[in-house]
Amino acid sequence: MKKIAIVGGGPAGIYCALQLQACNNLEIHIFEKNTPLNTLLPTGGGRCNLTHFAQDIKELASNYPRGEKFLYSVFSNHFICDTLDFFKKIGIKTYMQNDLRYFPISNSAKDMRIKMLAALAKARIIKKKIKRLDELKDYNTIVLATGSKGGYNLACEAGHTIIKPKPALCGLKLSENSPKYPQGVVLKTEQGEILFTKDGISGPLIYKISSINARKDFPYEIEIPLINHEKLFEAVKESPKKSFGNVVSGFIPKSLAQVILKNYGKKCANISKTEILELVKITFNVVSTDNKGEIVTSGGVDLKEITNLCQSKINPKLFFCGEIMDIDGFCGGYNLQNCWSSAYCAAKGIRTYLF
Ligand SMILES: Cc1cc2nc3c(=O)[nH]c(=O)nc-3n(C[C@H](O)[C@H](O)[C@H](O)COP(=O)(O)OP(=O)(O)OC[C@H]3O[C@@H](n4cnc5c(N)ncnc54)[C@H](O)[C@@H]3O)c2cc1C
Repeated sequence: MKKIAIVGGGPAGIYCALQLQACNNLEIHIFEKNTPLNTLLPTGGGRCNLTHFAQDIKELASNYPRGEKFLYSVFSNHFICDTLDFFKKIGIKTYMQNDLRYFPISNSAKDMRIKMLAALAKARIIKKKIKRLDELKDYNTIVLATGSKGGYNLACEAGHTIIKPKPALCGLKLSENSPKYPQGVVLKTEQGEILFTKDGISGPLIYKISSINARKDFPYEIEIPLINHEKLFEAVKESPKKSFGNVVSGFIPKSLAQVILKNYGKKCANISKTEILELVKITFNVVSTDNKGEIVTSGGVDLKEITNLCQSKINPKLFFCGEIMDIDGFCGGYNLQNCWSSAYCAAKGIRTYLF
């Protein structure tokens, strides 16, 4: 019998155990300091957006601002269809929404958790926080699946480098000098939606921008296309007697137009081309993240120190999967897909290493 310790009973750790248990002669222990798969419960607003459709590996990997190249090989071992097949085998049927996100048929992260844990026939879950790697010295291999917190010290103990963790997929706070944008109002832009919050901006587009800029130092500016100037020019020409603000309100929410236009009441007949061009984009001065939203961590164990089967290049007894690695993706199921695929690779790597 070979003994395997999986530290962390989140999506990555549990999926890794599920992949390993088909292999005979393995004793699998999952060390979880809290309740297993608790972190799955809030995903997808409680519905668990477990993955996202992509045509091929390259397309899927392009949704990860950190880890894209590393994931080529990981996804070639275990792609979306393999994940969906595996879930089907353990009784979790899935469907794809119009926006190409996948959910369990039950639309319930809770149900998914129950089914995943029920399928864990052979692994034993031990409620314990692992503080030091040497607590696990009797094990033949150790998988670190501790997510964004709780495992960096263990990786460091083995000699690994941690790329500084920073929040991603979250709202952004704006400088105090920014205009008083209308709280709760949604602005629809060509690139996506922006929600104005108490002290900043949020919504799908902002999550994506926060992810792309996760490693940037604050403060920074972001520019977002606001109104198509040709269309606005036409609208202004057609209604010379109307106020500029009225016409602009046909393109963006009136409450936003009232905040950003100095010339709201001016007649369209008197509006210059420059005044129209000023509305081509909106600029935000970002001072920090607001730590709200679907937060994932950008940063973690340096991928240069990990093989394509998620094995440590420093200590071959050690494997990694999920968010502990310096991999993070956009909203839409990409972060869980990293968990499933990297957990599969770690399981495959362990089998190769041990047998
Ligand atoms: C609100 C919210 C919604 C989200 N929605 C989605 C979504 O719909 N789709 C998507 O793809 N992603 C989503 N994500 C991201 C996704 O949940 C994470 O990427 C994923 O949970 C990471 O899984 P993991 O197993 O790597 O780590 P975690 O989920 O963080 O699990 C790690 C586990 O390890 C345990 N642990 C840590 N340290 C120790 C230790 N020393 N000893 C013992 N146990 C330890 C922790 O208690 C935890 O249970 C969401 C995230 C949030 C916060």
